[in-house]
Amino acid sequence: MEKYDVKFKKKLGQNFLKDNSIVKRIVDVSGVDKHSLVMEVGPGGAILTKELANTAKNVIAYEIDTDLAPELESKLDGYDNVDVIFQDFLEADLILDISNYSYQKLFFVSNVPYYITTPILLKLIKSKISFDNIVMMVQKEVGDRFSTPPGSREYGSITVLLNYFFEIKKEFSVSRKQFIPEPNVDSVVVSFKERKEKIPLKDFDFFETIVRDSFQFKRKTIKNNLKKYDLKIIGKVLEQYGYDLSVRAENLDVSIFAEISNALWK
Ligand code: SAM
Repeated sequence: MEKYDVKFKKKLGQNFLKDNSIVKRIVDVSGVDKHSLVMEVGPGGAILTKELANTAKNVIAYEIDTDLAPELESKLDGYDNVDVIFQDFLEADLILDISNYSYQKLFFVSNVPYYITTPILLKLIKSKISFDNIVMMVQKEVGDRFSTPPGSREYGSITVLLNYFFEIKKEFSVSRKQFIPEPNVDSVVVSFKERKEKIPLKDFDFFETIVRDSFQFKRKTIKNNLKKYDLKIIGKVLEQYGYDLSVRAENLDVSIFAEISNALWK
């Protein structure tokens, strides 16, 4: 059992793992090896960071809370392949930061602060950095939403955006009892592997806008949600897939959104 000498801050999502066996499983499923650079958000009390450092070539860990500096310093004493950057991850210049390292493979592995799960993923996508694997512990319900197929209640704009880029796999569940302090949600470890075969997008930001607009009013049809765009063009794309404008976004596969945004892009 890991011991921590810190005051936990709820607003920063500070629920730390207690048990090293969970940490070993996370690193195991990630595929990190001696040739890898690993990016981590929120080392906290370093339980995951240490295991990553034992397995990888280098670890770069972003921590927003400078009050954790003494704990991190003592826990990471002797680990000279770890660099902790005290900064808000969402503000970091990732391309510049990783340019300081030489490596063969690049991974993102983190027990993320749950309040910024989606912004972290969108930042990784928008950075255009190619990761060999992204492995994240997230809230169970959020993991379900990320990996659900079309037609289910949880299928939403974030499902579409993430599934365009990644093959998403739920690796294993983690009980709330594994954390200190104990949160009021359970968790799941999810991996995101970059899809090799994607319909090329003419413009990612426009694709994101179309996807978000399509889901704006959940019970409304594509005709209603996308009425400010050229419905004739949208209708033609839908027809190719056997749908018409009365379909709802929750029933459409990722590739259809890509085709619609490409057809509308000027
Ligand atoms: N990795 C540790 C573990 O597994 O026990 C701690 C994980 S804890 C769920 C999330 C960590 O993210 C905390 O240490 C918190 O301070 C840090 N954090 C919160 N917001 C952050 C941000 N915007 N940028 C970087 N770190 C952040």
